[in-house]
Amino acid sequence: MTILACDLGGTRMKIGVVRDGVVLAQTVEPANSKAGLAPQLPVLKAAWLRLLGDLKLTPRDCAGISVAFPSLVDTKTGRVLAEYGKYADAMSFDLRAWAQRELGLPLAIENDARMALIGEWRAGAGRGVDNLVMMTLGTGLGTSAIIEGRVLRGKHGQAGVLGGHISVRYGGRKCSCGNVGCAEAEASTAFLAELAKTRSDFATSALAREPVLDFAAVFKHAAAGDACAVALRDHSIQVWATLAVNLIHAYDPEMVILGGGIMASADVILPAVRAHVARHAHTPWGKAQVVASQLGDNAALVAGEWLVKEQFPNLK
Ligand SMILES: [Zn+2]
Repeated sequence: MTILACDLGGTRMKIGVVRDGVVLAQTVEPANSKAGLAPQLPVLKAAWLRLLGDLKLTPRDCAGISVAFPSLVDTKTGRVLAEYGKYADAMSFDLRAWAQRELGLPLAIENDARMALIGEWRAGAGRGVDNLVMMTLGTGLGTSAIIEGRVLRGKHGQAGVLGGHISVRYGGRKCSCGNVGCAEAEASTAFLAELAKTRSDFATSALAREPVLDFAAVFKHAAAGDACAVALRDHSIQVWATLAVNLIHAYDPEMVILGGGIMASADVILPAVRAHVARHAHTPWGKAQVVASQLGDNAALVAGEWLVKEQFPNLK
């Protein structure tokens, strides 16, 4: 089956043509998600037609379209259910009608964190494992769960995907979601600058001179012994490791997959999370594996084929 896939991020859109778990062609377009979804739709369509043209294919050669979306969605109706400052107009859109009208294809949509896990489950680090969770460490903290081979969605579409908003610190920082002490508010790129500036040693830290304060900078300066960077790194790893244990206790997985841009520092993060999980997770049956994602940011594209088949089982 050949499908058109996209992964709509806050700042960029990954767009591809996927067949049998392989991304045949792909491109990246900038996305000003604050300006909404409407201006992006013609860009998406043009990119797909261009990629298909390069492959000597047309939309008629495709079975459907998959969209990984950074919010809660209703997979059954294809509607976006909430907005968090990205593509705010998407809730009022009928994306399925747009896809039929513009490309003559059925469209399936799912939350982006779930799509990342589905991709890893079908074609990446989670192949052959039917009980697994994923944490995506990036601007925010995405999570998702598959239990006994079923993608966990829940009555309101939010089961498994709000792990970043599980409290890891009672009385901790206020989060954008309304809760306090959320893992995302304690250790994600969106909150990193705020976290750093609360530290008294920040002003004298090499981090204060970085043009972009991100986790790449934190890991770099921590490795060089910068005290502020070491403290931020160790605090963040504790948060992610604590969240991993919480997800293990909540969903009973055999495997925890860690993905996202911050995992560029997997050599430091993975051993620390593994050690914390070995010490603190209550798993009398054995040990949950803690592994890095294999597909990286292609996972959500690769997952599209599975999603289209699931949502439209009569397609060939
Ligand atoms: Zn929160």
